[in-house]
Amino acid sequence: MRKILICLCLMASVSGFAQTLKFTHADTLRGSITPERAWWDLTYYHLSVRPNAQDSTLTGSTKVVYKVLKPQQTIQIDLQEPLQITKVTQDGELLTYRRDGNAFFITLTKKQEVGKTETIEVSYAGKPRLAKRPPWDGGVQWVPDGKGNTIISTSCQGLGSSVWWPCKDHMYDEPDSMLISITVPKNMMDVSNGNLRSVVENNDNTHTFNWAVQNPINNYGVNMNVANYVSWKETYKGEKGDLALSYYVLPQNLDKAKEQFKQAPQMLKAFEHWFGPYPFYEDGYKLVEVPYLGMEHQSSVTYGNGYKMGYLGKDLSNTGWGLKWDFIIIHESGHEWFANNITYKDVADMWVHEGFTNYSENLYTEFYFGKQAGSDYVIGTRALIANDIPIIGTHGVNQEGSRDMYYKGGNLLHTIRQIVNDDEKWREILRGLNKTFYHQTVDGSQIEAYVSEHAGQNISKVFDQYLRDTRIPVFEYSFGNKGIQYRWANVVDGFDMPVKVKLAGKDELLYPTATWQSLKTKGIKTVVVDRNFYVESKEVKQASM
Ligand SMILES: [Zn+2]
Repeated sequence: MRKILICLCLMASVSGFAQTLKFTHADTLRGSITPERAWWDLTYYHLSVRPNAQDSTLTGSTKVVYKVLKPQQTIQIDLQEPLQITKVTQDGELLTYRRDGNAFFITLTKKQEVGKTETIEVSYAGKPRLAKRPPWDGGVQWVPDGKGNTIISTSCQGLGSSVWWPCKDHMYDEPDSMLISITVPKNMMDVSNGNLRSVVENNDNTHTFNWAVQNPINNYGVNMNVANYVSWKETYKGEKGDLALSYYVLPQNLDKAKEQFKQAPQMLKAFEHWFGPYPFYEDGYKLVEVPYLGMEHQSSVTYGNGYKMGYLGKDLSNTGWGLKWDFIIIHESGHEWFANNITYKDVADMWVHEGFTNYSENLYTEFYFGKQAGSDYVIGTRALIANDIPIIGTHGVNQEGSRDMYYKGGNLLHTIRQIVNDDEKWREILRGLNKTFYHQTVDGSQIEAYVSEHAGQNISKVFDQYLRDTRIPVFEYSFGNKGIQYRWANVVDGFDMPVKVKLAGKDELLYPTATWQSLKTKGIKTVVVDRNFYVESKEVKQASM
């Protein structure tokens, strides 16, 4: 059970407070914008890969197209052990390089002039890391399909896409577009991201699937899925016009999938309402069956929830509402807005992906089953919050924070909605985020600032409390001769969140701080804090006034 609750897309749990963790030279090379990364702006990738199921190897190359921002002659490209770079060229000229763990420092002989666009081609080969427990512990997965074929899939959030192809493995920079060419045996097909531009027949009993991505794409969003898929299509009439929906499943699951995947257009309807237009109309939307649970691969969401409702048939909220929909279809697709449209620059801010997407489950529930149902759902997931370490991890070293980024993140947003206290305005904030940060990589602090600015009041201390501290605010109150006294305890300095309470059955909005305040009331002996606020409350006998 515990294992199940270690939620989706989360790589590994963290063993202690981030501050006490030791980071290595390799962590810095992977997680920071090194000088060898900072001088060039990624504009385009052409990834070509030929997976070989016989010996679980990959052979391929990446063309990296970039614009020179600053004069520099050394470029960093990442590729993880045990894969090897076999050759690097620029304009046909062979280049030398130095390997430092998973980072390759390539010496460019051609003078790199500011403003010019250049290309390097990096060839590679080898046996990539096997995905041990995808998607959390990712890599490449090779699974026999029982018919003599091998299903091949990739997943690499956190770990990084350099686990299976050479790239600039840092989230801050995305190519503006990408071509993915995967060569597979004639009886198999590949589904990657974007649109299938062509299938080229080769004379060695293989064919090459060319998938063109027309939008910026984050590196862990890129994926390869090889199987003998069957597929069908439909058109969704959305906010931005016609959106092509395509579904790829194993032949034996076609009937079940046709029923289950009816939730995809329902999802689009709900999320376009709350978050604005699906962010990748040009690339279509796909659901692709895989042998692992699922991942938010951009415009080709992967699915392995067994055609069950809930999370592998379970309700994470324990309220019943989580069994009304398929967790993987809803959650992973929610990431198209928060992860693929608005993307963290640094995995330390992963709550921007998981907090908002966890919250999207509540909004989906509300859209189809009512406001009360949505609230029940998000409040139900509070049982899964650990409050072990802060949600925000350590920046610059590829370090996630607490897995509380999911349920506590969702409950933080639900709480902020109560503070905003205007549902239409709240929806405008959610849609405004997706419009303002459209196709961008962000610092989490930009998201906090936007919400704070549009919430009608400064809620920066609320973010500090829930994202940078592990304590849950306690609303302390006491009854005296003149009325009630109240304050916040267990809070960060300057914490000033308003809270809704019921006094003698009547809703009242209070503005507590860490200092005692009083409210004149007559004969009231009960205070009930609105359960939609993720706080605790406690009656204190003697309030010091
Ligand atoms: Zn997720």
